[in-house]
Amino acid sequence: MEKLEHIGIAVKNLNEANALFARLLGREHYKIEEVASEGVRTSFFEVGGVKIELLEATRPDSPIAKFIEKKGEGIHHLAFEVKNIAERLNEFRDKGFDLINQQAKDGADNKRIAFLHPKSTQGVLVEVCEEKN
Ligand code: ZN
Repeated sequence: MEKLEHIGIAVKNLNEANALFARLLGREHYKIEEVASEGVRTSFFEVGGVKIELLEATRPDSPIAKFIEKKGEGIHHLAFEVKNIAERLNEFRDKGFDLINQQAKDGADNKRIAFLHPKSTQGVLVEVCEEKN
């Protein structure tokens, strides 16, 4: 892993959450992006080189909608930046981690992403991501 890239937070209402985090962090979000394939609308804040990604469901079967139904709003995942994501996924598999995504897929913020299953990572949903180029 190269660094903690962002922290994903599941929210019910993105506009309200944007206003709250702007008040908390003392700065505005710098972009909003919808990822239709994932059923989410995201917004991003940046603090000291780490991003906060707020995630709002855009449809009832979105993973974020299901998460909020089960656990309520709050921290959803930690995302770590990697190089050579395909190789890293093979490594994680070899090390015994369960992959939710066997291969990287397109995510928000110009990234290729994949998730490790929280049952193999101490209950924490872990995303690995690599900048697309
Ligand atoms: Zn993320």
